[in-house]
Amino acid sequence: MNCLFCKIISGEIPSKKVFENDMVYAFRDIEPQAPEHVVIVPKAHIPSANDINEENIAYVSAVWAAIPEIAKSLGIDQKGYRVVNNCGEDGGQTVGHLHFHLMGGRSFGWPAG
Ligand code: AMP
Ligand code: ZN
Repeated sequence: MNCLFCKIISGEIPSKKVFENDMVYAFRDIEPQAPEHVVIVPKAHIPSANDINEENIAYVSAVWAAIPEIAKSLGIDQKGYRVVNNCGEDGGQTVGHLHFHLMGGRSFGWPAG
């Protein structure tokens, strides 16, 4: 399958890994928008949030279960962080494999731009 993040999970395309278990892979974003910016992906090709369902929700649970651990390993758990999922064109999604941005090391505004 011609999917960038599937290729990163398989190791075909190199990445800076920060976390991995049987269902989740996390790596440093190539264009970080914060001092700490990690992309967290399920190890199943789920195209976007629109494709989450009862059969694959365990992958999403596994992503969220990993988030506190990853945040702690990055040293951003105490001051806090932002988790973002971009879905589709209006959401700004550029890679068609479900992923969550974990960003910290600076404060973020709200409402989001
Ligand atoms: P999105 O715009 O939400 O689809 O996010 C895709 C993210 O993947 C962007 O923040 C990109 O900087 C990041 N990205 C694209 N290619 C790579 C890569 N080879 N390694 C790490 N991050 C990447
Ligand atoms: Zn994929």
